[in-house]
Amino acid sequence: MSPVYDRLFLNGSADSQEEYRQAMTRAMDVLIRDFASAPGPYSGADPQSLLRVYREFPVCPEDGAPLDALIERIGSTVVRHSAVVTDPACIAHLHCPPLSVSLAAEALVSGTNQSMDSWDQSMSGTLLEERITAWLCGIFGYDPGSDGVFTSGGTQSNFMGLLLARNHFAKRQWGWDIQRQGLPPEASRMRILCSEAAHFTVKQSAALLGLGEQAVVTVPVDSRHRMCPEAARDTLAALTAGGLLPFALVATAGTTDFGSIDPLRELAALARTYGLWLHADAAYGGGLVLSDTHAVRLRGLELADSITVDFHKMFYQPISCGAFLLKERRYFDSIRLNADYLNPEEDEDHGIPNLVTKSVQTTRRFDSLKLYMSLQYLGRRTFGEMIDSTVETARATARLIRQDPQLELIGEPEMNAVVFRYVPPASPGETEEEAGLRSDRLHTEIRTQLLAEGRAVVARTRVGGRVCLKFTLLNPRTTPVHTAGILEEVKRIGIMLDRADTGSRAARKNTDSVNMEPSNGTSTKARAM
Ligand SMILES: *Cc1c(COP(=O)(O)O)cnc(C)c1O
Repeated sequence: MSPVYDRLFLNGSADSQEEYRQAMTRAMDVLIRDFASAPGPYSGADPQSLLRVYREFPVCPEDGAPLDALIERIGSTVVRHSAVVTDPACIAHLHCPPLSVSLAAEALVSGTNQSMDSWDQSMSGTLLEERITAWLCGIFGYDPGSDGVFTSGGTQSNFMGLLLARNHFAKRQWGWDIQRQGLPPEASRMRILCSEAAHFTVKQSAALLGLGEQAVVTVPVDSRHRMCPEAARDTLAALTAGGLLPFALVATAGTTDFGSIDPLRELAALARTYGLWLHADAAYGGGLVLSDTHAVRLRGLELADSITVDFHKMFYQPISCGAFLLKERRYFDSIRLNADYLNPEEDEDHGIPNLVTKSVQTTRRFDSLKLYMSLQYLGRRTFGEMIDSTVETARATARLIRQDPQLELIGEPEMNAVVFRYVPPASPGETEEEAGLRSDRLHTEIRTQLLAEGRAVVARTRVGGRVCLKFTLLNPRTTPVHTAGILEEVKRIGIMLDRADTGSRAARKNTDSVNMEPSNGTSTKARAM
């Protein structure tokens, strides 16, 4: 017995339980005080002043600090100067507010610290994850021969899709086992098709898989940012005629900028004709499956050989939580490994599942519990309605932008992302090129200024070479009233900065100054550190 260490780890002793309660209660208190009750989506603090705060404390002091004081300090520094994802004006990325029920689930996930690699490290966890993945396969339209595994997110799921596609192709084409033999000599001719709006992790996966970014061929999109099946067909014909080996087609169901959904059924037909593995990246759009209104837009997803879905986006789960679904279970065999200490083959003979055989991770969190508890608590209907309401907010926001001559809507929202631009007044004597550059500079500064004032966290992206602003409206608590307010702020800051910019250009013309640095947004409303 070591009473000192006893207290540090939750166990049957009253002391340890008191310590645990204190730690969790204090953490909840600071989360409520310094995060949930924050007046805006960001404190406005700039990186230099934050660094100064953290430099005051050595990372590893010789002696520890009292628990209460520690959590208090972390609350007033780290937590206070975080992106408040729960704030209705925190609408930059596919970064969701987490459901409270899933935060409770997190406490159980980390408290029990199960590891999903082997049955003897997660007895209930293993069985429950298998049950949840079977349900997921079902709602996405897969047959019982399918399977799946939870992942750290879309990056890992996309990697797995292309990993299995690559292995399958080499096996079918040349009887080549990449897992044992490494890449075949023909690997440099292997090609992956995706749209030009596909997520960058397609290229990243190709690089990690030893095929190089050169293996990814992008296909043009239509005016709604969806892959053109005709262009895909032409590209495939050209690649094949040139002696190249297309083996995978990645369809995106919900592009990161516009939420566009590629024509899944047409692409599935094309994949069949050319013998390609169809991987569907539904990291963003997968959430629509729960909606009575919008689930139909995912029709054709069931034709994909594998599917990526993220729960830390439209399913309101804390990071990280995603899944990889596979239409035919047997393809997992191409990455199967057996370790004597984890998943000896005897176990499988006795029907004991060890999920490590399906994953590229070994030690792995029991993240599926979060999704499970959220589904159990909310039910599909409420989940679906929340998603519907975010789509409605995006449409209402798009209408506001369309009606405003000072704003320009860039494409109708496909899901719940809205891309737009602020239209500055024309400046006499300016060329189109100069006006474009002035506008780009302005959009970058508007975003910085909104952040520095702690008013809104919005994203910036480039469409057709021009900088635009983007709202990603995942939070069902964000209403058109909020977005209207942020649009007003965008215009106010736009006018203010444009005047300064135009004024300083005029001054530069007079003094022939060479200082072209854009002015940095400075904090006018930063909360005290
Ligand atoms: C977010 C996203 C990814 C990457 O997923 P992570 O969970 O961030 O790893 C991939 N594809 C699309 C379409 C995404 O929106």
